[in-house]
Amino acid sequence: MNRRRFLQRAAMAAALAGLARAEEPALLAEDDPKAKALHYVEDIRRSAGDQTHTCASCGLYQGEGKSLQGPCLLFPKRLVKASGTCSGWAPQM
Ligand code: SF4
Repeated sequence: MNRRRFLQRAAMAAALAGLARAEEPALLAEDDPKAKALHYVEDIRRSAGDQTHTCASCGLYQGEGKSLQGPCLLFPKRLVKASGTCSGWAPQM
């Protein structure tokens, strides 16, 4: 592969990586109005509720395996922390 072709491919790879990042949903902010309405917190230790009701154990959490964050059915186009919680927690089926 010549130098010119290598640089073209490197530029294409960088552009595709940028597109992939742009499509990744943003992390849900605790001060988002809907998050506040459901008392969402990123760290369950800051919640007075059941300490076993983390996002990771919630039936609405869509994150993979041991992911640190992932999608939630209650907050479309946002990611929630696996260690978080909210009043919408539901058992897994
Ligand atoms: S519904 Fe479940 S996964 Fe979504 S923020 Fe609340 S506790 Fe976390």
